[in-house]
Amino acid sequence: MLPHAEFIAKASQLKIQLAETLKPVPPPGTYTFGDIKTDHMLVMSFDPANGWSAPEIKPYGPLAIDPSSNCLQYATNIFEGMKAFMGPSGKPQLFRPQANMARLSSSAARMALPPFDEDALLTCITKLVALESRWLPAESGHSLYIRPTMIGTKPTIKVGASDHALLYVIVTPVGPYFPTPPGESLHAQSVSLLAVSEHVRSWPGGTGGYKFGLNYSPGFVPQQAAAKLGYDQVLWLLDAGQGAGDLVTEAGAMNFAAVFEGADGALTVVTPPLDGTILPGITRDSALTLLRTPGALPSLSSTRITVEERVLPVAELSTAHAAGTLRECFGVGTAVNVVGIDRIGIASLRAGEGEGLKVKVVEDVSPSSGKGLGPVGRALWDMLLD
Ligand code: PMP
Repeated sequence: MLPHAEFIAKASQLKIQLAETLKPVPPPGTYTFGDIKTDHMLVMSFDPANGWSAPEIKPYGPLAIDPSSNCLQYATNIFEGMKAFMGPSGKPQLFRPQANMARLSSSAARMALPPFDEDALLTCITKLVALESRWLPAESGHSLYIRPTMIGTKPTIKVGASDHALLYVIVTPVGPYFPTPPGESLHAQSVSLLAVSEHVRSWPGGTGGYKFGLNYSPGFVPQQAAAKLGYDQVLWLLDAGQGAGDLVTEAGAMNFAAVFEGADGALTVVTPPLDGTILPGITRDSALTLLRTPGALPSLSSTRITVEERVLPVAELSTAHAAGTLRECFGVGTAVNVVGIDRIGIASLRAGEGEGLKVKVVEDVSPSSGKGLGPVGRALWDMLLD
């Protein structure tokens, strides 16, 4: 049987084992992102002799894997991040889940993990989310965050592709990713970024365009260095050797956009291109579509906006800041929706002024929108959440 037909056949045999006791659902506002897991998870396994197992929804709990498993030794870990919001009917409604399934497929193919059928997996995930709907917070900006994960479980330390895998999905109730002071609108959220170039997140021909666990862990040390200097996240730069110096790629685990004002008052939204060095964000894609669709963002109906997907040298942010034409910067992603960027510290490491991770900030660039979301970010926030 072809791999997809086999997956579809197995997925139709979904087994459900309910938890004997259900956990109390904590009130929104009492948990931080990702800490609390719901009562159940979805699990399937693959091995070359039996192919995919029938999926099982079962009580959330530890997984048993061999200590020599390929994922533990060689980081064959891929994942997705998607959300279910409270729909108008009071039922969970997933945001563009087919796009997450397509990206998971692309990650599996690049990681040499077994293929799966996207629609059949989504049907199983939808059942899991429906089962967990009592965990779905109704508050604005709250949702259920869904984490499909696939790991290579071939039980050998021999270096090579994993022809054994575990595919599982866990669910966690979430509120705003960055804490919002009580009583403040979610539009008031903004973060600061430290632009670093000594450590890069991705490179041409690398794996930055895939959702691999191994793209994230090397960022923890630069993230700690940024936090020590009072910045919330890292702005990942990359000198791709095109003569333009350090280019902006992504901000933490978000796609990045800057809004420039032209001499005629028109705005240009610039975001780095999908050249394999950034994750092809689903929120980014929605935001660009909204910005390019006439009338899609009513609060911006009298503003002329063009969108450019092109390389964005970090120096362009400094120049525009100095000229007073850097209107807004924002990050977009599933976890944050849209978040304002109120300050970007540009660090000097290459000049030899820093030793190891002793970063020296040589310049702070602040968009004129100040704290919170500017008009473009705010229009996108509202429409994406709608
Ligand atoms: N970049 C990175 C590195 C990310 O981890 C994410 C979150 N998935 C994004 C961008 C935003 O992508 P999406 O809008 O699909 O969540």
